[in-house]
Amino acid sequence: MARYIFITGGVVSSLGKGLASAALGALLQARGYTVRLRKLDPYLNVDPGTMSPFEHGEVFVTDDGAETDLDLGHYERFTGVAARKTDSISSGRVYSTVLDKERRGDYLGKTIQVIPHVTNEIKDFLKIGNDEVDFMLCEIGGTVGDIEGLPFFEAIRQFSHDKPRGECIFMHLTLLPYLAASGELKTKPTQHSVKELQSIGIAPDILVCRSEHPIPDKEREKIALFCNVRKESVVAAYDLKSIYEAPLAYHAQGLDQAVLDAFGISPAPAPKLDMWHDVYDRIHNYDGDVKVAIVGKYTQLEDAYKSIAEALTHGGMANRVKVKIEWVDAELFDREDAAPYLEGYHAILVPGGFGERGTEGKIKAAQFAREKNIPYLGICLGMQMAVIEAARNVAGIATAGSEEFDHETGSKRFEPVVYHLKEWVQGNHKVARKTDDDKGGTMRLGAYNATLTAGSKVAEVYGTTQIEERHRHRYEVDTKYREQLEKVGLCFSGMSPDGKLPEIVEWKDHPWFIGVQYHPELKSKPFAPHPLFADFVRAAVENSRLV
Ligand code: GLN
Repeated sequence: MARYIFITGGVVSSLGKGLASAALGALLQARGYTVRLRKLDPYLNVDPGTMSPFEHGEVFVTDDGAETDLDLGHYERFTGVAARKTDSISSGRVYSTVLDKERRGDYLGKTIQVIPHVTNEIKDFLKIGNDEVDFMLCEIGGTVGDIEGLPFFEAIRQFSHDKPRGECIFMHLTLLPYLAASGELKTKPTQHSVKELQSIGIAPDILVCRSEHPIPDKEREKIALFCNVRKESVVAAYDLKSIYEAPLAYHAQGLDQAVLDAFGISPAPAPKLDMWHDVYDRIHNYDGDVKVAIVGKYTQLEDAYKSIAEALTHGGMANRVKVKIEWVDAELFDREDAAPYLEGYHAILVPGGFGERGTEGKIKAAQFAREKNIPYLGICLGMQMAVIEAARNVAGIATAGSEEFDHETGSKRFEPVVYHLKEWVQGNHKVARKTDDDKGGTMRLGAYNATLTAGSKVAEVYGTTQIEERHRHRYEVDTKYREQLEKVGLCFSGMSPDGKLPEIVEWKDHPWFIGVQYHPELKSKPFAPHPLFADFVRAAVENSRLV
């Protein structure tokens, strides 16, 4: 039987609900329980796939091919549980399902209303697939009181009402602002936020209070009394140096104990936190740093490359160095010499991206890394740009480019070394691309296997020749050019199992130059850094010793 923990937020947004949920998940695992983390998102987009990375941060892709919110990335990085399509849902998806059903006549002529039709749809979603876990943790996006979030709040209230007493608890995150003038932490916004929650029928069992200053006992008592929670259930959340300190920090504040108490689980199994102590140690005890440039397009919002930044941090932890990430806007040197922008970095990473803007700069970054023997990791678009660079500057295909760019402008400027794939194989069945003009759901998405060439650099890095990684792209490197490119030293060292789709390229005579068509960053964890990132950072360290 699963127990349910619903996590809501109030007072202000961006309090770190996702992080608190993920850390709590990790702590319950440390106590020997199995967990599943899920997210209800109030926005009206059907999924985040079409949302701008500038606005919404990165799209996190699951093994089963869902384009989800980056919070699912946090969950996975903290618990190691692979996120699934059914782990998140948006209002947009819920309404779209309800409206489809209405059109099909499934409601037999009834008047369709938010309650019960929309709320039932949410409850049905919440019921799927929790049987195999001890705890299902479910975060509700936004803050209490948001109009669009109301159906979700009503649905979780009903959900807990439908369950036997003691199977569901509510955890609410708030902020205790500090007034410097009077030197006080103010509890009123928290009281109001809890009132708001109570007015829609939800009484929180646990309050997690973000605060920049220690919460005095007196204030804790006051919050407990006015918000009707036990004093031990008012848990402080202070600012941390690294998000990966969160499990230990929350444990020290008694969060996991408060949760188990709220469920009446006694005696609680003792936590095994060795793994998190090791993570903590690696964050705090390192030997020097390396500077890595991420040459991208969405550099104003770091969340746009969240998983990459995290995976680099994990790579640093694996090597006991600090990775200093610098964001370099590729567009700056689309038409100029890239060298002044790229000198001084110990490694260069070109991440995924869409559209032509900034691609000439990325091609130059690949060229710079190749010529100067700087470690290069190209991810998805970053691999495609490395191939185009090789084709243009080494194999003599002067007009090499990607069909993606011609597609945008409707012209035929480039020789399509990277082409638009229409049909491919997943496992043992064929997949055909859906219509072109619908931007959502037209990509090669989710986990695919790849076979690596024995003896190649990547095979050595992975320590195996069979891998499975997550994809999110429409275009592919054309094998038509394989022979020509391999002749000049760019090896196709990883291919789809049917040998048709290039998954990995690497320069033979380069200290570390690898391009991958997939997104390895999505599977990296602080306690299990992805081998490509661990080795990329190792190569950066080696390079830093040469400079
Ligand atoms: N725009 C490229 C494609 O669709 C690369 C996508 C990506 O980097 N995720 O193939």
